[in-house]
Amino acid sequence: MPIFKYGNRQIEYTLLRRKRKTVGIKIMDSAEIQVTCPTRLSNDVISRVVESKASWIISKLEQIESVKKELISKTYEDGEKITYLGNNYILRIAEWSKYDGQPKHIGLRNLSLKFDNSSEDTIEKLRVILNQLKIFMIEGQRIGIRFFSNEFHIYINGWKDRDYKKRLIKQALLNWYKEAALINLFERTYEFSRRYNLKPAKVSVKSQKTIWGSCSSTNNISYSWKLVLAPISIMDYVVVHELSHLVYRDHSANFWGLVEQIIPDCKEKRAWLKANGRSLDI
Ligand SMILES: [Zn+2]
Repeated sequence: MPIFKYGNRQIEYTLLRRKRKTVGIKIMDSAEIQVTCPTRLSNDVISRVVESKASWIISKLEQIESVKKELISKTYEDGEKITYLGNNYILRIAEWSKYDGQPKHIGLRNLSLKFDNSSEDTIEKLRVILNQLKIFMIEGQRIGIRFFSNEFHIYINGWKDRDYKKRLIKQALLNWYKEAALINLFERTYEFSRRYNLKPAKVSVKSQKTIWGSCSSTNNISYSWKLVLAPISIMDYVVVHELSHLVYRDHSANFWGLVEQIIPDCKEKRAWLKANGRSLDI
């Protein structure tokens, strides 16, 4: 692996030679540095380009490091705050014996919903589901989650091992977020679809790492579940971005024109995602 020096640090990067004219540097979420360059560019020139960007690369790596630290330091204990739709809410953790018997919901069959004439009814049902207790089986343990009056209520038994409990709660929350992501994103997609007469075939939620959304040639729109951690205005930008791909498949000026018509400050939203995207995780 080629390396570059920064102060007393030696930093490795992956070099990919491609048919292209310029040198591109990408920092992956894993903190891997990917340098893409023209097929025949000399190693000396590549080194110089990479070294000229060293301070930018280092600041990106530090950002990743600090987000990672923050995520690791989460304990998922009673009283901790967790993010949902751009706001922080308190996590309340209780034993199952404290459960008051409010309606439960069995869960969605999968993380994908068809778009059709009954979408409005679907949304109404989903809204109800979103506030009901959802039960997950994680590693053989029954864990309940309910987002209720601005708090996350978690029901779990077996308190002995803190790390074990933390892992179960985190996994259950992850499942809850994915479902909440689909419900919220489906609703927002339906809203803009109705307003601007842009009809996708299907909406799904995926665990994509770096892609916030995508629109297939068969008009299926996929979103990253992590968008449910961002403010709704950011979610809306991604929704409109993907819906606009139903009209323009590329990122041409016409495409951006359409996005901007619907979301006038789309550039700011895009910049927000670039700056804060990595922290949208649990
Ligand atoms: Zn796009």
